[in-house]
Amino acid sequence: MNYIKRKSIWGRIPIGKGSDIMARRKKIYEGKAKTLYEGPEPGTIVQYFKDDTTAFNAEKKAVIEGKGVLNNILSEYFMVGLGNIGVPTHFMKRLNMREQLVRQVEIIPLEVIVRNYAAGSMAKRLGLEEGMQLPRPIVEYCLKDDKLGDPLVTEEHIAAFGWASQQDLDDMLSLALRVNDFLAGVMYGVGIKLIDFKIEIGRVYDGDFQRLIVADEISPDSCRLWDIETGQKLDKDVFRRDLGSLTDAYTEVAKRLGVLPKGATPMARPTLIN
Ligand code: C5P
Repeated sequence: MNYIKRKSIWGRIPIGKGSDIMARRKKIYEGKAKTLYEGPEPGTIVQYFKDDTTAFNAEKKAVIEGKGVLNNILSEYFMVGLGNIGVPTHFMKRLNMREQLVRQVEIIPLEVIVRNYAAGSMAKRLGLEEGMQLPRPIVEYCLKDDKLGDPLVTEEHIAAFGWASQQDLDDMLSLALRVNDFLAGVMYGVGIKLIDFKIEIGRVYDGDFQRLIVADEISPDSCRLWDIETGQKLDKDVFRRDLGSLTDAYTEVAKRLGVLPKGATPMARPTLIN
């Protein structure tokens, strides 16, 4: 069993790499930060959060111990919160420190980015000063294609190439803005400004009906989060721009949201899925 060796609030918590357990499952897909396994029931998936960290289309890589645990817990927190206010997500339940059970979806091949303040690629593209408040939330779409570096695409491209229908686009916009309102409010409540974030959206079929739901993860890997008072970055830019400890930044977010395990009680063994 591996432990996060930190004297912070985490104490010594088993982080359950569990390779023996994983070997018994069928791997469906391995991404940069997560691995997907077949779930226990048809239509379910086990999403395993790795410590692997990449930036700039995987040109910069590192393994940051404990990052997967933090993202698993934070993504659970955001997805459950969204579910509670009626925004549908793929999240079913967290299984252990690194895994969650989620609903299988047909992923729409687009990254949906919502921006409240100028930063990152948009600041660069349009020559805007980072941190400038935008006149309103701006939603952008990027094609999920690592080889092409996830290029920005317009609704015209999306509809013409059939990556999503016009109805899907309307639904995606509405989901993205609802997630934005929720996340921005939650973060504001703990003294953090939501600069921007990315979500992925999947299609599910309920009988004859299909609908879109929030999928993948919502974590500091996929958001820009700045402390309201100091402007300190509490997201993956800490890794991208070598600004210090990524786990310290994510732990700070988790601590403010009150989602760290109290008293660092060691977790039971990871749940077995047969
Ligand atoms: O790099 P860019 O400014 O376009 O990123 C906008 C937001 O989307 C950031 O919060 C970033 O972390 C997130 N993002 C992501 N995965 C990508 C690209 C961007 O989570 N592949």
